[in-house]
Amino acid sequence: MALIVQKYGGTSVADPDRIRAVADNVAITKKRGNDVVVVVSAMGKATDNLIALANSVSTTQSGREMDMLLTTGERQTAALLTMALADRGVDAVSYTGSQVGIITDTAHRKAKIVEVKGDRVRVAIADGKVAVIAGFQGVSTDQEITTMGRGASDLTASALAQAMDADACEIYTDVTGVFSADPRIVPQARKLTKVNFDEMLEMAGAGSKVLAMRSVEFARNHDVPLHVRSAFTWEQGTIVSNEEPSVEDPIISGVVTDMTEAKVTVLGVPDRPGVSAALFEPLADANVNVDMIVQNTSTDGTTDISFTMPKADMAQSESIVQAIANEIGATEVTHDDGIAKISLVGAGMKSSPGIAAKMFRVLADENVNIQMISTSTIRVSIIIPSSDMERAAIALHTAFGLDSGADYSAPLPERK
Ligand code: ADP
Ligand code: ASP
Ligand code: MG
Repeated sequence: MALIVQKYGGTSVADPDRIRAVADNVAITKKRGNDVVVVVSAMGKATDNLIALANSVSTTQSGREMDMLLTTGERQTAALLTMALADRGVDAVSYTGSQVGIITDTAHRKAKIVEVKGDRVRVAIADGKVAVIAGFQGVSTDQEITTMGRGASDLTASALAQAMDADACEIYTDVTGVFSADPRIVPQARKLTKVNFDEMLEMAGAGSKVLAMRSVEFARNHDVPLHVRSAFTWEQGTIVSNEEPSVEDPIISGVVTDMTEAKVTVLGVPDRPGVSAALFEPLADANVNVDMIVQNTSTDGTTDISFTMPKADMAQSESIVQAIANEIGATEVTHDDGIAKISLVGAGMKSSPGIAAKMFRVLADENVNIQMISTSTIRVSIIIPSSDMERAAIALHTAFGLDSGADYSAPLPERK
């Protein structure tokens, strides 16, 4: 008998029909003789709606109260799915993250897992029950309810799979696996049968939404293979594991697109030691995830510094950056929401020079202006105007030989 962790994302449980379809799959898995631990996300756009609700009520949103609010989304799905399982004669019980002992640090909205106790899950399984756990949440070492960042139900799943020593961790979503690009943007994207953890980590870190970065990090560190697959077609998906890529694999495995970042530019920054530290330390202290940073060469003793960060952190960092700019004598701070990041990721880059140059040539031929560039050993990322993103991604996908020869054919559910 195997122990299987199954995680269902927001679109997969978006309405009553979907919840019933998921209950059918859980029931089948259980009736085949497996033990099943289910992790659920909030229904559809429930988390976005809760954030919008908070915005419409108040501008004073402490992390603690936001986490109290946001965790209700997942809790709702867990209770509903458990009821649907009861209809199917499956003995199931729902739990919050706190109830199953997902212990985190105290950083509200971005909490990190410190420990997974899982005692109640073990008891439920020993009693022959399916445990249905509200994803995305835990309880802090200060006994406060926390959430672990957008998309973190994936992390709940990989952490529980590790804690329970599960035989499989299945991540059910609304596409049929991990593709060479987001099939919603590049229809010719190719399904990858397997992806290595390092590549998946770079793809997730570059902004590919299909798996949350920290779930991949966790899965890699604890060697928990993930099976990303569709809750709409139920077909075999993509295995993400520590298996090394073979020499026959393409040099580039994916083109990653990301529209979630904004760019901030601080103009007229005095060019002297300590200025970058003065700017970025307070942002780090405020838990703002700064991504790319570019500093221009100095002319007449001043320079410009641009950096990108999540749009969601913009409001928080705006006042911090403005205050520091005044303090250090910079002339102006500007913001740009209309940017997109495109990254090429591939383990084969290590041994294959010229990828960045080819990428820039493709973009030049498409008349796309590059604003920022950053690289790692297996990734090249650029910032461009968001209006050019789709065209650039499609052109790069073709130029690097990734097109599958046919458009994505499974249904692409609308995200309600
Ligand atoms: P869930 O709600 O199931 O967690 P997400 O929205 O977080 O789903 O992730 C699934 C989405 O990720 C897909 O609908 C797809 O648009 C997007 N995506 C981005 N990059 C990729 C990729 N390389 N392969 C597959 N899907 C991708
Ligand atoms: N509901 C949360 C979100 O929308 C967590 C998740 O879906 O994984 O970010
Ligand atoms: Mg997700």
